[in-house]
Amino acid sequence: MEEGQKRTFEEADPSLLDEVSAVIVDIEGTTTPIEFVKECLFPYVRENLESYLSTRYDDEETQADICALREQAVKDKANNVDGAVEIPSDGSKEDVIKAVLGNVKWQMDLDRKTTELKQLQGHIWREAYKTGKVKAKVFDDVSPNFEKLVEEERLIYIYSSGSIEAQKLLFKHTECGDLSKYIKDYFDTTIGPKTEKDSYVKILEQIQCDPEEVLFLTDMPQEAEAASQAGLKTALVAREGNEELTDEHFKKFLVIESFSELFGEDDEDFKRLETEGNGEYNEDDDEDDDEDDLGDDDEDDPEDDDGEDEEEA
Ligand SMILES: [Mg+2]
Repeated sequence: MEEGQKRTFEEADPSLLDEVSAVIVDIEGTTTPIEFVKECLFPYVRENLESYLSTRYDDEETQADICALREQAVKDKANNVDGAVEIPSDGSKEDVIKAVLGNVKWQMDLDRKTTELKQLQGHIWREAYKTGKVKAKVFDDVSPNFEKLVEEERLIYIYSSGSIEAQKLLFKHTECGDLSKYIKDYFDTTIGPKTEKDSYVKILEQIQCDPEEVLFLTDMPQEAEAASQAGLKTALVAREGNEELTDEHFKKFLVIESFSELFGEDDEDFKRLETEGNGEYNEDDDEDDDEDDLGDDDEDDPEDDDGEDEEEA
């Protein structure tokens, strides 16, 4: 990026928040380090699965989770899915747990996103959050600026691929305390994929806002593109650990590194390159997949059963 192209905050829009009554915020790579899911939540499941199943084996919920995994495994076998691990229906507790461990680890190794797997993972994470064994990571600037937005009577919404229940748990149990008090409502991919304009149109209908009074913050250029097609204001959030943004992205989108820049108090970091209108950006730059993986939906995954059985993911 050439220094000469960089625009200061004053030269850019008077404020990103002008006329904005609602802010829609992504989670992974925006409020929360991408590594949190991969380096904290997923390992937690692997490390605690056996003790979770042993302790809660007779619970109705656990039995339902096992039953769902068993039925999925039967389908996998029938479809000749390579390496599918079946779960006996009449085995001893030890045998069943051993088979479930094998099944879950096999699925997680393949990064499968079946509803059945997500359901059990969601229950394990719920317990982890509630017992305080896991606290969600959020970037330091998130909590104070959520508070400030709310003080200014702007509504905060979350839109993430992770299920709504997982989103609520995450914000209720962060290292910075309970941030759910700042959040008006949550959206997940049951409203539609984050890379499609229509999803943002539907969210606007639900929150009853005009597009120009809504700001969408995300780390993913494809999502920002879809939101801006729906007329929303957008800004990309560049965080440590995120995929590098290209010059094209800097040209096309406003980029912030901290939520405090929303209030125009961090001019040094407020980046905006000269743009020639809101031109098309090159989609070849964005071959990376949707990174949101909060026990989530993968829109391209045929095994993924959007909108079903996800209350606890
Ligand atoms: Mg994200």
